[in-house]
Amino acid sequence: MTWEGPGFVDHHTHLLRVSVGAKGACDYSNPAELAAYHHAIFDDGSTPMDQPPEPATADDLPAAIEAGLAKAAALGLVEITEAGMTDWAHFEALTTLRQRGPLPTRVRILVASGAADLKRMDHTGDEWVDIIGVKFYADGWLGPRTCALRHAFDDRPGEQGLLFLDSSHLAARIEPYAEERWTVATHAIGDRAIEAVLDAYDMVYAGAARAEAPRIEHAQVLHPDLVARMADMGVVICLQPGFAVTDAEAGWEALGDRMASAYRWQLLFDAGVRVIAGSDYPIETLDPLVGLAELVTGGRNGKDKAVAKPIGFDDALAIMTDTWCGATILSDDPHTLDPAQLADLEVVGTHPRAT
Ligand SMILES: [Zn+2]
Repeated sequence: MTWEGPGFVDHHTHLLRVSVGAKGACDYSNPAELAAYHHAIFDDGSTPMDQPPEPATADDLPAAIEAGLAKAAALGLVEITEAGMTDWAHFEALTTLRQRGPLPTRVRILVASGAADLKRMDHTGDEWVDIIGVKFYADGWLGPRTCALRHAFDDRPGEQGLLFLDSSHLAARIEPYAEERWTVATHAIGDRAIEAVLDAYDMVYAGAARAEAPRIEHAQVLHPDLVARMADMGVVICLQPGFAVTDAEAGWEALGDRMASAYRWQLLFDAGVRVIAGSDYPIETLDPLVGLAELVTGGRNGKDKAVAKPIGFDDALAIMTDTWCGATILSDDPHTLDPAQLADLEVVGTHPRAT
């Protein structure tokens, strides 16, 4: 018996970059390499979203992207958002592909701050491919201990991570895009970075952020005061279902008692914060059913390791899907399954909205 439900949407992936075979700037699974990369960029006064694009290795970009989008559709996704398009060649390839017909899944693009250009940015008005805004990058990551914290890491006395852009610099860079009403999404993992981004949004939107729905990507080191501000301002949080599971061990070592509120997505729901989700593929799997299982079990691979605080099924499904974007058909009704079995569901098909 199949089940048709709201379509899975991935609000934060790097699928285009991966599809064209562009290598990451470094080995993201190696914390030491990542830390060196972040420090070098910080010393340059730059940010990871302002680096030149890595070259594509695929010969035929439209074909490579079509294959990537087909993979997303096979996993049940009706829409993906590229969270930081570094190379306009990817957009040109999408345009070529689109001229040939419908795409396997809808594509939305946040242009990387280093590639963003108001002269090139335009709404296509096309359901299949559109540019939605700009992605900025405020701090590093937890694993390499480069996210910007208010107080030092528990396991690195004296180190508070790296803030690539303080609130005034961030506000100055956001301003021209906000003025043209492009969506602004900023990577912020540590509490000091989240606070800087909220301060910048206050400067740019002057109390009217809610209508423009600026985003914070990741928002891992949460505190009640930051959550209250997010709710009050109407800022949208884009969380990654896999991160609380992947980072659980490093989180306790790096943050200690701060884990009482870090990665506690329930705090966001309780406060009424607007929440969406994205895989951050290839850092985590692109498979939304795996992400859904991680959110509702707090574990991975069907095993509830109780490493992350789970959230309720309805909240999890709501942030990972969007009825407006289309429908996903599954082999069974996910409501009726043991949460540990969610990732075993089969995707029967998708109907992306394309009027
Ligand atoms: Zn990302």
